[in-house]
Amino acid sequence: MSRCYDGLAMNSVMGLGRLASRMGHSALDMLFPPKCAGCGKEGSYLCDVCIAESPKAPDTAAEGLKSIIAPFQMVGAAREVVHCLKYNGLRVMAEPMGVAMAQHLKRHQVSPDIIVPVPLHRKRLRERGYNQAGLLAREVGKWLEVPVYHKGLVRTDYLGPQARTATREERQANVEGAFVAARDFSDLSVVVVDDVTTTGSTLEACATALRDAGASSVWGLTFARDV
Ligand SMILES: [Zn+2]
Repeated sequence: MSRCYDGLAMNSVMGLGRLASRMGHSALDMLFPPKCAGCGKEGSYLCDVCIAESPKAPDTAAEGLKSIIAPFQMVGAAREVVHCLKYNGLRVMAEPMGVAMAQHLKRHQVSPDIIVPVPLHRKRLRERGYNQAGLLAREVGKWLEVPVYHKGLVRTDYLGPQARTATREERQANVEGAFVAARDFSDLSVVVVDDVTTTGSTLEACATALRDAGASSVWGLTFARDV
C-alpha cells in the first residue's frame, strides 16, 4: 500500500479532501499529521532525506524544447510522491513537489515569463477532479513569482491512457497535434509543467503548440523522469 494512504482514506472514505484543502494546511496537518511519502517519517509529505537521496534525473535535449528538466528519476520516494498526488488525491503533495521543481529550475538559471501546465482532457478532469500538472504549475509559479496561464494550452482530443499504447512511435503519433495554444504567446519564454515525463512526446507537442502561438523559447519541467 502506498504510504500516502491517509490521503486516500481522507478523500474516498470520509470525503474530506476538498474540505481539507479549503481549511488550509495547518488544519489539515492537525487532522492528518503529514508523513513522508518516501520513508513514512512524520513532519512533512516529502522529507529532506528522501529529497537528498532520491536518484537525480539527467537533463535531456529535445527538438521543439530548449530542454526537459526534471529533478528526480521516477523511482523510490519520487515515485511514491507522484502516485500520492495523481492517484490518491493527496493534493497537498503538490507543494513540496513544486518547491523541488522551482529550485531545480533556478539551479538551471531558467527564468521564464510564463508557466503553463500540460492540460488534462475534460473527461479525465471530471474523473479526477483536478489537474495534477495545474497544481504543480501553481506551486512553481508561486515560488518563482512567475504568472501561470492555467488555460494557456487546450487539449484537442482524448486518446485514452498512454500506457495502453505499446511503442514510443505510437505514443508520439497519439499526442501529436493534441494541443493548441488558447492565447497569444508572442516573444514569451515559457515553461511547460507536468508531473512525469517518459518519452517527452507530450511536452514536445505542447512546445509545438506554444511556438506556433509565438513563444520565443519553451522548456519542459516535470517532477520526475520515467526512464
Ligand atoms: Zn522521507
